[in-house]
Amino acid sequence: MTGTTPGRALITVPLGARSYDIHIGEGLLAKAGDIVAPFLKRPLTAIVTDENVAQAHLASLERALAAKGIRSTAIIMPPGEATKSYQHLGDLCDRLLVAGIERRDRIIAFGGGVIGDLAGFAAAILRRGVDFIQIPASLLAQVDSSVGGKTGINSPHGKNLIGAFHQPLAVIADISLLNTLPRRELAAGYAEVAKYGLLGDKPFFEWLEGSAEQIMRGNPEARIRAIRTSCEAKARIVAEDETETGVRALLNLGHTFGHALEAATGYSQRLLHGEAVAIGMVQAFRFSERQQLCAPGLAERVAKHLKGVGLPVHASQIPGQLPPPATLLEIMRQDKKAQGGKLTFILVRGIGDAFIARDVADHDVLNFLTEDLRQR
Ligand code: NAD
Repeated sequence: MTGTTPGRALITVPLGARSYDIHIGEGLLAKAGDIVAPFLKRPLTAIVTDENVAQAHLASLERALAAKGIRSTAIIMPPGEATKSYQHLGDLCDRLLVAGIERRDRIIAFGGGVIGDLAGFAAAILRRGVDFIQIPASLLAQVDSSVGGKTGINSPHGKNLIGAFHQPLAVIADISLLNTLPRRELAAGYAEVAKYGLLGDKPFFEWLEGSAEQIMRGNPEARIRAIRTSCEAKARIVAEDETETGVRALLNLGHTFGHALEAATGYSQRLLHGEAVAIGMVQAFRFSERQQLCAPGLAERVAKHLKGVGLPVHASQIPGQLPPPATLLEIMRQDKKAQGGKLTFILVRGIGDAFIARDVADHDVLNFLTEDLRQR
C-alpha cells in the first residue's frame, strides 16, 4: 500500500477501478506535469484555485504543466468557506465550460479544503462528471479533505449538505506549499493529524507528542511522516467503507461537537474548521470520561497536546457569545450525521480507541454541554 524513498512517499487508495495514488514529498509542484500528463487525453486542463494560493504558487504550477506541453486555464475563486456556495458552484461550472473543458478532460483542484470540495463537486456534475486531480495546498487538505472523494458545498441549512462522492485520479501533496500557509491555518490542519492518532493509532499520537514542534516548524521528515501516516489511515478507512455506512464515521471524531460550534459561529474566522475539531475532540474525550467509558485524565492529556501547537481546546476560547446548550444540541440534530433525528457520536475508550455510539441520550449531552460551557 505504501512506498517510501527519502523525502517522498507514495500511498495507494485501493478502490478497485477507482484506485489512486497519493504522492507526498517536498518540491513536487515543480514535477506536477510528470504526474498529471499521463492522465490527460489531450494537453489541456483547468486549474481551480483561490486568490491566496494563486498568488503564492499558481505561476509554479502553470510552469510545471507548460514544461510538459500542457495548456491550462486558471480559474481563481475568492478564498474562504463562503465560496462553498450554490452561487460560486454555478459560476465555477460556467467558467469551466467557457475554458472548453469537455467530458474527457481533467481539471485540477489546487488549494485548501474549500477549493478541493468545490472543484471536486463541480467536476462530479460538469457534463455529468469529469475526472479531477487534487493538489492540496493546506495541511488540512493534505491529510484529510483531498483523500476519500467527499466533495460538496454548504447550504443555508447546513455545512456540506449538498455534494457527491467523486474520487480524484491522483493526489499530489507537496509539503513545500505549507511554507506559505498562515500559522493559524497550519495549526487547524494539525488538529486533523492528531485526530488519526486519537481515533485509532496510539503509537502515532505518542510520536506526535514528541514531534509536534518539528512538524509545526517545518522539519521535512517530520512533516512527511505526519502526512503519510495520516493519509495511510484515511486510505485504509475509505477503502473499507467508501460511502460512510460504517467505520468511516470514526473520522468524525470531534466533529459532532465541533460542527455545532462552527454553525453557531457562522463558519467564520471566529472559529476555523480544524479549531472546531480540536475543541470537539477534547469534548468527546471529556464526555467519554463523564460517561465512564475511558479513564479520567485523558481529556487533559489531549488538551495539553493540542494547546501546545496553539489550538483552542475549550469553547470559552471562541471570541464572542455562544448560544445556550439547548440550541447547540438542536444544531447537532440537524447535522447530516444524525439518523432518524438520533445523534451519532464518536466516543473513546482510550487514546487510539474510538468507537461509534448511536445510543447517546439527549439529556446526557445536554447536561454535559451545560456543565462544560460553564467551566473556565
Ligand atoms: P481553506 O481551503 O479555506 O484554506 C485555508 C486558508 O488558507 C484559505 O484562506 C486559503 O486561501 C489559504 N491557503 C491554503 N493553502 C495555502 C498555501 N499553501 N499558502 C497560503 N495560503 C493558503 O480551508 P482548509 O482548512 O484547507 O479546508 C477546510 C474545508 O475543508 C472545510 O470546508 C471543510 O468542510 C472541508 N473538509 C472536507 C473534507 C472532505 O473529506 N472532503 C474533510 C475535512 C474538511
